[in-house]
Amino acid sequence: MDDTGAVYHHNGNGHHRLNGHHPVLVLNSNYEPLNICNIRRAIVLVLNGKAEVLEEYDVMINSSSAGFDAPSVIRLVYMIKRPYPRVKLCRREIFIRDQFTCQYCGVETRELTIDHIIPRSKNGPHTWENLVSACRQCNHRKGGKSIEEARLKLKSTPKEPRASRYYPIQRALSRRVNQDWLKFIPELELRSDTPFSH
Ligand SMILES: [Zn+2]
Repeated sequence: MDDTGAVYHHNGNGHHRLNGHHPVLVLNSNYEPLNICNIRRAIVLVLNGKAEVLEEYDVMINSSSAGFDAPSVIRLVYMIKRPYPRVKLCRREIFIRDQFTCQYCGVETRELTIDHIIPRSKNGPHTWENLVSACRQCNHRKGGKSIEEARLKLKSTPKEPRASRYYPIQRALSRRVNQDWLKFIPELELRSDTPFSH
């Protein structure tokens, strides 16, 4: 590590930054996956005796004192207790919950909007129960009306989705997918909620 705390490796052409490009999987002491961190954070945990290295990248890290392989999986020495993860309430997660389907007419489309079942103008809350995916036409038809006023029907009762215990890791991984790529790989966006499928 240099003065800025960055980690470097040699590839024959000199130094290259490592942070970010080599995510490290962090396991709890019972081997349950907890999260993903960067190499620098992982090295600090290992050097402080708080974690052990289980897997390594084929990349050398050079610190002032010694060189060693960059960790790719570390395991915490002490068990960490944490609350069961909850799915973050956001557009993307609402679309995933609704399987990219308009909850009024049932059309499956990439051109979805978010509809407030009880409209915002009538103090409809920003909650899992009040937000659904809607195609542009249904959203337009509904406007500031209630379901009854718009003569629409919901396909199912919206609820908070249950997070898998790997949700924090899935989120961390999908954040690492370059957003500029997604329009060229539409399947990837659909699947980035299940990065363990490949
Ligand atoms: Zn629709």
